[in-house]
Amino acid sequence: MEKFIYLDNAATTKTAPEVVEAMLPYFTEYYGNASAVYSLGSKSKEAIAKARKIIADSLGAKDNEIYFTAGGSEADNWALKATAEAYREKGNHIITSKIEHHAILHTCEYLEKQGFEVTYLDVDENGVIKLDQLKAAIRPTTILISIMFANNEIGTVEPVAEIGKIAKERGILFHTDAVQAFGQIPIQVDELNIDMLSASGHKLNGPKGIGFLYIRKGVKIRSYIHGGAQERKRRAGTENVPGIVGLGKAVELAFDTMEERTAKERELRDYLLKTVLKEVPFTRVNGSRTHRLPNNANFCFQFIEGESLLIMLDMEGICGSSGSACTSGSLDPSHVLLAIGLPHEIAHGSLRLTLGADTTKEEIDTAITAIKKIVAQLREMSPLYEDYMKKNGSQQ
Ligand SMILES: *Cc1c(COP(=O)(O)O)cnc(C)c1O
Repeated sequence: MEKFIYLDNAATTKTAPEVVEAMLPYFTEYYGNASAVYSLGSKSKEAIAKARKIIADSLGAKDNEIYFTAGGSEADNWALKATAEAYREKGNHIITSKIEHHAILHTCEYLEKQGFEVTYLDVDENGVIKLDQLKAAIRPTTILISIMFANNEIGTVEPVAEIGKIAKERGILFHTDAVQAFGQIPIQVDELNIDMLSASGHKLNGPKGIGFLYIRKGVKIRSYIHGGAQERKRRAGTENVPGIVGLGKAVELAFDTMEERTAKERELRDYLLKTVLKEVPFTRVNGSRTHRLPNNANFCFQFIEGESLLIMLDMEGICGSSGSACTSGSLDPSHVLLAIGLPHEIAHGSLRLTLGADTTKEEIDTAITAIKKIVAQLREMSPLYEDYMKKNGSQQ
């Protein structure tokens, strides 16, 4: 097997061997339909119930408040579209932020076309929403506040407790996209006044294509997929039993190991941030230094293109990511980096490295050496860098 230094755990994670092992029998041995009467079906039904309980317990929720979906994007779509529909008589206004995942932002744009009004809150230079702006944005017609728990690009953790408190005081539903935070940060839905929460298996060493939406009891929310009676008739379709079992196992592992794992990641990540800042000139760290996911590092290297850096890191077997998405031939810088106030030319030079449970100090050291070398090479070829050094070089 080819060896990679995998530092893109915010994009997806390796499925843990224990998770794969837990899933396998539900492909080959216990393949019964959970709705069937015979005992083979009950095996599936029991496995689903067990996973649901693990997840509910991890959030301080009730079992019947957890609805399995095909991942984070579906959970986000469901929370927004179904709330919009169910609460249309109360109002047509939704509040979100400028730095949400596209599963939220593009769903909001769709809802705007359906006649809903959406306020996209600004964030400060660290990527934190402004609570005063949130309070001021609330109208009598506001039905939903949807703010992510932690940002997938810059790792900033939002003031969820405060947002939940404001939402509750004003009688507005609060949804949070916790796809990045779930399994990394303890979350109790009652304490935080969260009414709906999205999470995804493949972001916490579980399988891809499975996730869930937590929906607090009493929230009026319509069925998302019509058909059979699965998921309390709200999300029809034969359950993805191996996926659900794998998600349950992944959640169990993530919560059992959370303290130790995140402490180790935080230490390595801080070493990575500190060393890169020290050894690579004209570099900045994006996102909050204090309210931050333990495994996230995000840099901007002036005078270079993030895409070129990624390609050259890949040649050294290092997997990272950049905020820019290559759309229709033009490189658009990340909406998140623009929202924290970075100019386009700086935002273009971004690199996100996200650590995992298995990441080692040696891997981080190898990555730092490679970054240092490649950034210097790319700057050698950069006319912007050359210009800058001609004008300011002597003062450096
Ligand atoms: C990955 C991600 C999603 C999408 O989840 P999928 O399971 O890939 O659909 C949504 N929101 C955030 C913050 C994410 O990081």
